[in-house]
Amino acid sequence: MTEGSSAPRLGIDLGGTKIAGIALGTGDRVLAEHRAPAPREDYAQTIAAIGAMVLHLEQVAGAAGSVGVGMPGSISPATGLAQNANSTWLNGQALARDLEAYLKHPIRLANDANCFALSEAADGAGIGARSVFGVILGTGCGGGLVYGGHLIDGPNSIGGEWGHNPLPWATGDEHPGPRCWCGRRGCLETWLSGPGLEADHLRATGSRLAAEDIAAHAASGDAPTQATLDRHASRLARGLAHVVNVFDPEVIVLGGGLSKLAHLYEVLPGLVAPHVFADAPRVAVKPPRWGDASGVRGAARLWAAEH
Ligand SMILES: [Zn+2]
Repeated sequence: MTEGSSAPRLGIDLGGTKIAGIALGTGDRVLAEHRAPAPREDYAQTIAAIGAMVLHLEQVAGAAGSVGVGMPGSISPATGLAQNANSTWLNGQALARDLEAYLKHPIRLANDANCFALSEAADGAGIGARSVFGVILGTGCGGGLVYGGHLIDGPNSIGGEWGHNPLPWATGDEHPGPRCWCGRRGCLETWLSGPGLEADHLRATGSRLAAEDIAAHAASGDAPTQATLDRHASRLARGLAHVVNVFDPEVIVLGGGLSKLAHLYEVLPGLVAPHVFADAPRVAVKPPRWGDASGVRGAARLWAAEH
C-alpha cells in the first residue's frame, strides 16, 4: 500500500443463493467486484466461500482491507450467534467468530437490509435525507433504519426489522394469515415478499405464477393479477404506515426483486397516508439507486473510510 492512500474497504453480501463482493478504494472507487454461488445448507462451506471471496477481492484490489459482511438475520449481542436468518443453516452458528478465525482479522457483520439502507442513505436514493427506512422485498422482507448517516441498532440487533410483525389493520379474511418460517402466523413477510405475493395469487386464483409474470399479466390488462398487485400494495402500505408512525422517515427506499414493480412508487404514498397519524402526511417512497449492489456497498461502509 502506498503512502497516503487508505486501505480498500471490502463488502461481502451473503445471500441465500449467491455471495457478492466489492472492494471500494479512495473516493469509493470500485477496485474489484465478484460474485459466486452461495453454498446452501452447509455452514463450513459458507465460511470457506466468504474466505475465498475476500482473498479474491484483495488480490484484484492489490491490498488487504477492512471486511464488512451483510448477512440474512443478525448476530445476537446476547449469545454471539447468528439469529433470524432465513438461510436457516446459519442460525445458532458463531458466524462472526468463525469468520474472524478463518480470515485472521476483525470483521463487521450486519443485517443485509441494514447494509442496503446504509448504502442508499450514504450516496443513493436517500442521499441528503436525515432519516431513511430501507426495505428489502425479495425472498424475505427486511428493513434497516438510518438516522444522521448511522444505522439504528440496539440491544437485540434487530433495528428496522419489521418483517415479522403482523400485518396491521388486517381485514377479516387476512386473519390469522399464512404460517411463517419463524413460527408465527401472518407476518408481513408472508404477505409482502416475492414468495408471499406468489402464494397470495395462488390462494386467490388457483394459478401458480412468478412475481414478474403477475406484474406482466397485470400490465397487459389482466384483472386477477391486477387484483393481486392491488392487495399486495395495500398490505405493503399498511406495513409501511406502522413504520412511519414510529420512525417518520424522510425517505423510504425499496430494494429487492419487488422494488422493480414500478406502480408501487405511484400508489404507495396515497395508500400509506390514511394510516399515518398526521394532518397532512408526507410520505416519499423511492426506487433504489444501487439496487442489488447496495448490499455489498453498504457492507463495505460498515467500516469508516479512514481507519
Ligand atoms: Zn415471521
